[in-house]
Amino acid sequence: MDGNEFRDWSLRAAEWGADYRETLRDRPVRPSTEPGEIFRAIEASPPEDGEPMEKIFADFEATIVPGMTHWQHPRFFAYFPANAAPVSVVAEYLVSAMAAQCMLWQTSPAATELEMRIIDWMRQALGLPEGFSGVIQDSASSATLAAVLTMRERALAWEGNRKGLSGQPAVRVYSSDQVHTSIDRAIWVSGIGEENLVRIPVKGPLRSMDAAALEAAIVEDRANGFLPAGIIACVGGTSVGATDDIAAVADIARRHGLYLHVDAAWAGSAMICPEYRQFWTGVEDADSIVFNPHKWLGAQFDCSIQFIRDPESHVRTLAIKPEYLKTHGHDGIVNYSEWSVPLGRRFRALKLWFLLRAQGLEALRKMIRNHVAWSEKLAGQLAAEPDFELVTEPMLSLFSFRHRAPAGVDADEHNQRLLNAINNDGRIYLTQTKVDGRFAIRFQAGQFDSTAQDVEMAFAVIKEIAGNLR
Ligand SMILES: *Cc1c(COP(=O)(O)O)cnc(C)c1O
Repeated sequence: MDGNEFRDWSLRAAEWGADYRETLRDRPVRPSTEPGEIFRAIEASPPEDGEPMEKIFADFEATIVPGMTHWQHPRFFAYFPANAAPVSVVAEYLVSAMAAQCMLWQTSPAATELEMRIIDWMRQALGLPEGFSGVIQDSASSATLAAVLTMRERALAWEGNRKGLSGQPAVRVYSSDQVHTSIDRAIWVSGIGEENLVRIPVKGPLRSMDAAALEAAIVEDRANGFLPAGIIACVGGTSVGATDDIAAVADIARRHGLYLHVDAAWAGSAMICPEYRQFWTGVEDADSIVFNPHKWLGAQFDCSIQFIRDPESHVRTLAIKPEYLKTHGHDGIVNYSEWSVPLGRRFRALKLWFLLRAQGLEALRKMIRNHVAWSEKLAGQLAAEPDFELVTEPMLSLFSFRHRAPAGVDADEHNQRLLNAINNDGRIYLTQTKVDGRFAIRFQAGQFDSTAQDVEMAFAVIKEIAGNLR
């Protein structure tokens, strides 16, 4: 591809992107392909000679696009959103054209210094106090792994990386059973081991860790020779939005000298609205907080912010400095690769800069408030229907519900059938979860381009398809 072709095809790709976004509402949210269909449609071996771009592009449109699930669709109500606001896509075009590695200050000073500034913009936007610095990680999973490694090293007096874990007392970490699976994986990968992730029972409508049980577990573990290292609390759990009492947990962490990591991957975006900050009261006492602007806020994946109270212990855990990575003569600069497990880093701050400037915080707050209001309204409408019941009340814009099964039909099977029928229909897309062992259908409104009408349509579609099943 020469310079002119690059120009032409870049313009073509941008045109395609704009057309794609404009026509999303008319597409089924989830494709109706059968497993293996697309695999079989793709050549089994790579070509020996280059092919014309026209043909490659035509195949992209004919084979790939029909097999995509449209995450930017305004009626995507499944999982959590992975919003890519148009302005953040534009920033990603630029990042992709420059294709810089941003691991050290000197490998792209602008990327490092913009990242430092953006971290502080977001700290202010979320109402966090001064004293937190941070880093943009690829995903919340990476941020949580970094936090778990730091709590492990701190508890082991910085000997874990050097000596390994054998011969050490067993490091213990505490969380509820509502936390995301990325916590389990961080525990596996850090060598702490699943048996040392102590699951604290939850209580109350927000399914919060029982603080008394948490403290009792820590005290008992210490008495039994274990080494309590840290607590992982969640605000807005993935299943039904479970939210711990951060102030109570932080108090326990402080009194027992434990590291506190708060996972607010999804709900963190809502904290740009002061009225939702009640859900994480006490968060200023956390050692580390992760939230994903790539979920609700609209910064294209990947973009996960980890706020850190004490970057020194974080960097002490993760930094490794071979000669070829030293930046001689630049003491005191930030080299962000020392803040994360991977060395190579994309330039992730640019899309947040574009997004925050083009939208402004007030428009983003309005979007989030709308999502919450529309979701609450839909929950109310479903609860008022004789054949539906809410399983969990809305936490921000997330709730779960069930349809009453006909006599003699298993409720879980019935709701699975309903969910399949809704998703095969294609007008909306929902996913499921288990609540207290029983199947429930999740709903979250959070798409960047959703309107009140899109959520109203969800009500109509759910009711219509449930009616047809009877
Ligand atoms: C989505 C999510 C994660 C994982 O986020 P990644 O960025 O995909 O790693 C972790 N925790 C919670 C609560 C989430 O909702």
